[in-house]
Amino acid sequence: MSTHSPPVVLVFAGSDPTGGAGVQADIEAIVSMGCHAAPVITAVTAQDTVGVKQFESVETELVIAQARAVLEDMPVAAAKTGMLGNKTTLSAVASILDDYPRIPLVVDPVQAAGIGNPLAEDSLDDTMRTVLLPRATLATPNTLEARNLAPDADTPAACAQALMSLGCEYVLITGTHDVTSNVINRLYGHMRLLETFECERLEHNYHGSGCTVAAACAAGLAHGLDTVSAVAKALDYTWQSLKQGYRPGMGQFLPDRLYWARKNNRFHDD
Ligand code: PLP
Repeated sequence: MSTHSPPVVLVFAGSDPTGGAGVQADIEAIVSMGCHAAPVITAVTAQDTVGVKQFESVETELVIAQARAVLEDMPVAAAKTGMLGNKTTLSAVASILDDYPRIPLVVDPVQAAGIGNPLAEDSLDDTMRTVLLPRATLATPNTLEARNLAPDADTPAACAQALMSLGCEYVLITGTHDVTSNVINRLYGHMRLLETFECERLEHNYHGSGCTVAAACAAGLAHGLDTVSAVAKALDYTWQSLKQGYRPGMGQFLPDRLYWARKNNRFHDD
């Protein structure tokens, strides 16, 4: 590998034609954080900034072939999963990643779009719990996803404990969906609350914020940061992207993940 080659982040994600969420979000976040994104497409969605109209999962064999091609060619420094589409693909992805136990893994347990439309053919909760979360370095559920994954837990802390008991090392529960004045994101690890990150709640609804956080966390881990630092940097980057977000369509705002590059773009004169 040449010395200037950026760390490679392998992502498993669905395609979102709005460019706001999914693999498009992952690539922008990973590249912004100074890594190289290697995207494995798990599903193709038809959606706009208002909602998901349709999606189709990619054949599991083709998902496996994409991942093997990258893993056998490049030194993958971290991996991230987003939309997986169905249980068969989820299990196949977990089994590939089990062959590479040293690659840190961020699991964004997405099963529905922020707006509520499903992004999985069936409930993935059980399979997520049994095969993928035990392999995860970091899971990034929002409070609703955490509750679904740990239905017996009655608080975010209890949800995090339940997920860590499965073998997931760190759990970041994001608080965007809560009715608090500021957004409170909590990072758990070593069976306790490690850090609370509070940020100003922005006024709009955003599409792709969960993908952005998880992908940026994976990039931090790929750079060799410890999990607390990777999460802190990812949350800060995501908040800046949301703050400078824009509304290109008729629904949700999209994060401007390239906010940092706008002044230096190649068509800008000054
Ligand atoms: N992956 C895909 C392909 C999506 O379309 C979405 C949301 O629509 C997500 C993931 C999750 O998006 P968010 O970051 O808004 O939770």
